[in-house]
Amino acid sequence: MTELINHFIGGEHVAPSSGEYIPSTNPATLDKLYEFARGNKADVDRAVQSAKTTFESSAWKRTTATQRGHLLRRLADLVGENTEELARNETLDNGKLLREMVGQLKTLPEYLYYYAGLADKVQGSQIPTNSLDIINFTQREPLGVVGAITPWNSPLTLTVSKLAPALAAGNTIVIKPSEYTTRNIVRLAELAYEAGFPAGAVNVVSGTGAEAGAPLVDHPDIAKISFTGSTATGSAIGASAGARFIGCTLELGGKSPNIVFEDADVSNAAMGVVAGIFAAAGQTCIAGSRVFAHRSVYDELLARVSERAATIKIGDPLEQSTELGPLAFESQLEKVRSYIDIGVGEGATVYSGGNRPEIDLPGYFLEPTVLTGTTNDMRVCREEIFGPVAAVMPFDTEEEVLRLANDTTYGLAAGVWTSNLQRAMRMSQGLQAGTVWINMYRAMSPQSPRQGFKTSGVGIEHGLESMNEYTKLKSVWINTDEGPMADPFVMRG
Ligand code: NAD
Repeated sequence: MTELINHFIGGEHVAPSSGEYIPSTNPATLDKLYEFARGNKADVDRAVQSAKTTFESSAWKRTTATQRGHLLRRLADLVGENTEELARNETLDNGKLLREMVGQLKTLPEYLYYYAGLADKVQGSQIPTNSLDIINFTQREPLGVVGAITPWNSPLTLTVSKLAPALAAGNTIVIKPSEYTTRNIVRLAELAYEAGFPAGAVNVVSGTGAEAGAPLVDHPDIAKISFTGSTATGSAIGASAGARFIGCTLELGGKSPNIVFEDADVSNAAMGVVAGIFAAAGQTCIAGSRVFAHRSVYDELLARVSERAATIKIGDPLEQSTELGPLAFESQLEKVRSYIDIGVGEGATVYSGGNRPEIDLPGYFLEPTVLTGTTNDMRVCREEIFGPVAAVMPFDTEEEVLRLANDTTYGLAAGVWTSNLQRAMRMSQGLQAGTVWINMYRAMSPQSPRQGFKTSGVGIEHGLESMNEYTKLKSVWINTDEGPMADPFVMRG
């Protein structure tokens, strides 16, 4: 019998009000994994009501920041104890390598410990005033019910990046996970409940974006939406949040440049290019999909990248030796393939890859692909492909490559490979991207803030600043003078 995964609302597994479920498929084998609840507005209403009731309960209001920190620590421990199971779930759902997911999820408790530590450091400050009789101070308060909507490419980490600061700051949360990766997010909610968070503090409504995501965004009792996903969806969500004057954090797409200068260690840079675009089959927001190589090292870099790409072991992501798994679902594979065709139609050449690899698994596999003959104005260099497809382009001067790198609507990340310190500093200052890596690519930690520039996002995730995204700031003025009130027609301060 097919396993059914229900919503998690108010500490219970709740069947969808429609009675309908959606099948989930292993993208490597095409085996059916389970069926998950097809959520709708009624389910979202129920979950938001549950989160609101908990938020307003005296029990939650009387939970101190220190206690919330302890609960997050307990959740971190539980996540750590279940790493193998969670990593396997992730791999079965989205096809990312098991060894990558084990590595990623081993660090996941650190995200929860980090925010556990921040819970009791959310504080206001005393503000100087122009009167000795007036005290002014600020305090930070939770927002209420946070709606979190997350994608499929790193479901647990990207969800914890919202859940942990939201709970640390004293909010409750309703999560709508991607329809491709439901299982682990329901599991996370179960673990949060087991850790001691009260029923209704963490709720999950599964389903599609249109049927379950949109009603969450539009719900009148949501105080904030925290979204990670595509720029197109983020734009619609941002518009809806803006119309209702609620807070909104958006972590969106990218078309990141990975720049190799003539003074770089080309061997390391080539591995950085491979990591940037072929790890996770290029299905990362930070994918270094536009590779710029100085003309004097272009041939060498291209050869090294293509050689390594040709030896990448493609196969079942559960196997330890596999280096490239499938794309996460069929339409994703079709989209990536169609971009290769678009590139060729625009005049690009498929230098290596581009085909289905010859393996005996039926899933959504694609060879790591290198395009040459591209220019920065082609669609393959302007639009997010979200797959293992790199466009490698030569450049002549630092000024030129900085202009090309910034000539994009996105601004998520950028990589620079150089042994020249001054150049590294100039580039990190000039690049219009929220994250810049020098002589490395694809690093992330809970301590380091992430912000997408331009259409790559609004607001900050991770780092001290991210806590502010989940609180509102109140300014309190106190008159300590008990004497007669001064002139009522003159403002004080
Ligand atoms: P997506 O925008 O299609 O979906 C993301 C989530 O939004 C899913 O849960 C989906 O069901 C939901 N959704 C879709 N339409 C909705 C609507 N109208 N209202 C409310 N919710 C809706 O993105 P995806 O394909 O799941 O993820 C890939 C994208 O995410 C890429 O663009 C990638 O760059 C981006 N991403 C960004 C970051 C970052 O930190 N900047 C991290 C990972 C992924």
